[in-house]
Amino acid sequence: MAKKGTIVIDPGHGGSVEVGGSSHNNARSPSGVLEKNLTLRMAFLVRDALAEAATLGGHAIKILLTRETDKNLGLRDRALVAKSNGADLFLCIHFNASEGHNARGVETLVSPKAGNSNHAADAAFAQLIQTAVVNALRVHDPTTKDRKVKDQPLGVLRESSLGTKARGCLVEIEFLDHKAVDELFNLGANATQVRADVAQAIANALIEAL
Ligand SMILES: [Zn+2]
Repeated sequence: MAKKGTIVIDPGHGGSVEVGGSSHNNARSPSGVLEKNLTLRMAFLVRDALAEAATLGGHAIKILLTRETDKNLGLRDRALVAKSNGADLFLCIHFNASEGHNARGVETLVSPKAGNSNHAADAAFAQLIQTAVVNALRVHDPTTKDRKVKDQPLGVLRESSLGTKARGCLVEIEFLDHKAVDELFNLGANATQVRADVAQAIANALIEAL
C-alpha cells in the first residue's frame, strides 16, 4: 500500500557548545568516534534508505532532518522542526553511554503518559523502531540486548514543543562507549554494512508506521 506523510529525523547533539538543553556531544567510542557525528551519519543513511524505499514503493514521503551539518540545536527547536512542518513522525537518533563503559543494548524512549496525549501511539511507533533495530543488529551480533521501549521525560519530545500531530520517540541505537559496539559500528570489517542495515531497518519501520 502506498503511504503518504512527513517524517522528521533528528540526529542528536552537534557543534561544540550546549544549546537549549542539548549537549554538544554525549557518548564517545573507545576509538574516538563522537556520538554527534555517528547520529548525523546514521540520519543521512536513514534518509537515503527512506528516499529509495519511497521511490520503489510509490510512497509520497517528505523527509526532513533537523540538522545536516555539525551544528547544535536546542531541544525545543528540534521538536519545532517537526511541529512547523506538520510531521507525522519524529524520530530522534542517539547512541548511549554508561559509567563503566560495559552496558549493551538498544532502547527506545517515549514521553510518559502524564502530559503526553499521544502516549499509546508513541509507544506503538517506538516499538516498531525498537524491534527493527534489535533485529538488524542481531544479524551481526546475536548478543545485542533488547532493553525495550521505556517512558522517560525528554525535552526534545515535550508535547508543548512537538504538538499533538506527530508521533515521536528517541532511539538509543547502542552503547557507543562499549568496545564491541565500536567494533560493530566503526572499526570492524562489516561496519559499513552494519550501519547500512540498521538504517534500512529504521527506514522500513518508519514507512510501516506512517
Ligand atoms: Zn545522545
